[in-house]
Amino acid sequence: MGTFNTYRWRSRADPVNALWPLVPALLDDEVISSWLVRCALAQGCEPTTLAADVWPDLRLWSLDPDREFSERQLTALSERSGISVDALRASTLMPWQHKMTGSACFPKGVAAWFLCLGTRNRRRCGGLQYCPQCFAQETPHYLLQNRFAWHTACPIHHVGLLDHCEQCHAPLCPHLNGPPTLDLGRCHRCGYELGMATPELVLEGALRFQVATDDLFNGASHRYGLCRLALVEWLTLAKWMLSVLRAGGRTHGTCTDDFFSELGVSPDGLSRPITGLAFEYLSPEERGRLLSDVWSMIGVGPERLIAAAKRDHVRPSLLIPRKNPLPDSLADLSSVLQECRHKQVSQNHVDKPRSPDSVLMRWNRLLRKFER
Ligand SMILES: [Zn+2]
Ligand SMILES: [Zn+2]
Repeated sequence: MGTFNTYRWRSRADPVNALWPLVPALLDDEVISSWLVRCALAQGCEPTTLAADVWPDLRLWSLDPDREFSERQLTALSERSGISVDALRASTLMPWQHKMTGSACFPKGVAAWFLCLGTRNRRRCGGLQYCPQCFAQETPHYLLQNRFAWHTACPIHHVGLLDHCEQCHAPLCPHLNGPPTLDLGRCHRCGYELGMATPELVLEGALRFQVATDDLFNGASHRYGLCRLALVEWLTLAKWMLSVLRAGGRTHGTCTDDFFSELGVSPDGLSRPITGLAFEYLSPEERGRLLSDVWSMIGVGPERLIAAAKRDHVRPSLLIPRKNPLPDSLADLSSVLQECRHKQVSQNHVDKPRSPDSVLMRWNRLLRKFER
């Protein structure tokens, strides 16, 4: 077992003067959707029935049920459950979105660093993960951090997380459980005991990145070269590194291979997620491999990264983001790449057929939809 500290996102809350007859406590770090399903099962009803009692006009389970609630919606839930509005709000993703972006509102579609459920009606493609050993040892429940895309491992048991049933490969959909099921311990589709699953191996670099990122929510900062990065700058840098790694995985070449080797990233091991989807849609294993490489790149620091980009004449399209500016800590990279650009021979683009890899990626995305 590792020596990592675990960050406490939220403390347990017990019901007081609840209207519902049987309300389970909101456990340490439990995410609101997990508790809502456990609440429904405790009353002996479907999660849809429970949600309709509180919010008759809301199709909660067709949305992301952890993302956004109004004060009025939380008050209605608090009155029935006896759990305070503050505790309920703290078990949604809103406070963490606020810390990362300055606003508790979520965009439509992908929100950076929050796993995407890929919802269609009540079916999902993924977006929730768990530690089998935690499930085996405690009341099975899902954690807030099970929704964060930088989380790929359990720091308590030092194992990788899973986002599907080991037996039938269904994505985790606890809200599709109903009576007579009493808890979240089994797969909604095949009934397999989720705590029995074989955990994935943990990637040390990915776990170290995860723990370091968690620390930043306490207001800490981490060193990158001469800069000290707080949460937002740290995540901006990591996102940039992820985009570089994904671009590097798509195109191999002598210059880029040398560049990545200098950064402690094996060019042959550059991950190519099988679906090619956004980071927030990827499996824990795929995210873990990418974040492990991010951790190596952070360790190398900005000076060596910029020197390697210059030495290997890395093309600007690999390192300059299409949408966002470069992270402040790498602002010097821009001028270095301008020099490289002048040296590059212009190439005419010709319409070519799609590569076999690109076709395979599209095929895997289609298969993923069929898993719902
Ligand atoms: Zn665990
Ligand atoms: Zn199953």
